[in-house]
Amino acid sequence: MALKLADFKTDVHNDWCAGCGDFGILNAIQMALADMQVPKHRTTIFSGIGCSGKTPHFIKTYGIHTLHGRVLPFAQGAKLANPDLEVLAVGGDGDGLGIGAGHFVSAGRRNVDMVYIIFNNAVYGLTKGQASPTLKLGMKTKSLPQPNVNNSVNPIALALVSGFTFLARGYSYDVRQLKDLIKKGIEHKGLAFIDVLQPCPTYNDINTKEWFQGNDNIDPATNKVMPRIYKLDDIGYDGIVRDESQITGKMAGALEKSSEWGSKIPTGIFYQNELMPTYQERISARIPNYVEEPPAGQKIADGEGKTVTNIERLLSEHRVD
Ligand code: SF4
Repeated sequence: MALKLADFKTDVHNDWCAGCGDFGILNAIQMALADMQVPKHRTTIFSGIGCSGKTPHFIKTYGIHTLHGRVLPFAQGAKLANPDLEVLAVGGDGDGLGIGAGHFVSAGRRNVDMVYIIFNNAVYGLTKGQASPTLKLGMKTKSLPQPNVNNSVNPIALALVSGFTFLARGYSYDVRQLKDLIKKGIEHKGLAFIDVLQPCPTYNDINTKEWFQGNDNIDPATNKVMPRIYKLDDIGYDGIVRDESQITGKMAGALEKSSEWGSKIPTGIFYQNELMPTYQERISARIPNYVEEPPAGQKIADGEGKTVTNIERLLSEHRVD
């Protein structure tokens, strides 16, 4: 029977603040899974700590609420143990780019075939709105006593130079576009990263929904409001790498476009490169039966509970001469 959107919703009480951008991201994930008819028992959503960490509670698939900054090691481990799983990792900008930044960079180097979505609101919402790594230098949100003294991280640029092979940015109030980006991230062969801009109306009183809509961004020529958010597709931008000669140029384009911020903020796919081997492909080259017999599919005991693990074979597979 075909899965419907309602099949991916739980009845767990949701205590996110009214107007939080998290709701749009949650809807987009559920819509993408329903559109793709991904079997629920083959889907696992991992989260870190923060407001967004509650996301797996609201999606009716397998879900693991992990530790602060550690969502990527959990998610990568599950995907490597069971390559048949559809794995999504979610978390906040503070979680993923602060304490989790080392894991973020290491994940890029591996290129495990899964999706990582950052709910980016530039503050640590769960702990009363401290400045996160994506808050711009000099900004003073209502919960800061002084303007932010640190420079900000560009998540797309960091992901690009770390080796992520699919880079996109969405906006939580454009659920339709975000759903499409998530579907493309799931379909992508390799590690997909989606940076989602989302208002935190409780603690970030600068990057609000009205600010993203451009209510204060008036075109002097026409006196009309100019929305800050625009789509890369609408300007004919193409970040897809089709052969190796294009890699350097497409990377440079992604860096340039992802740095655009202020009166114009692009969304869409900045870069996609499926020429890079995934971690699973690299492992398969060393362990030929990895895909047919991944760790999660191996028999570890017979009917009487006696181990059937061949220790000698395991050791020989992992021996480094
Ligand atoms: Fe959303 Fe901010 Fe409330 Fe957290 S504190 S639920 S991010 S509005």
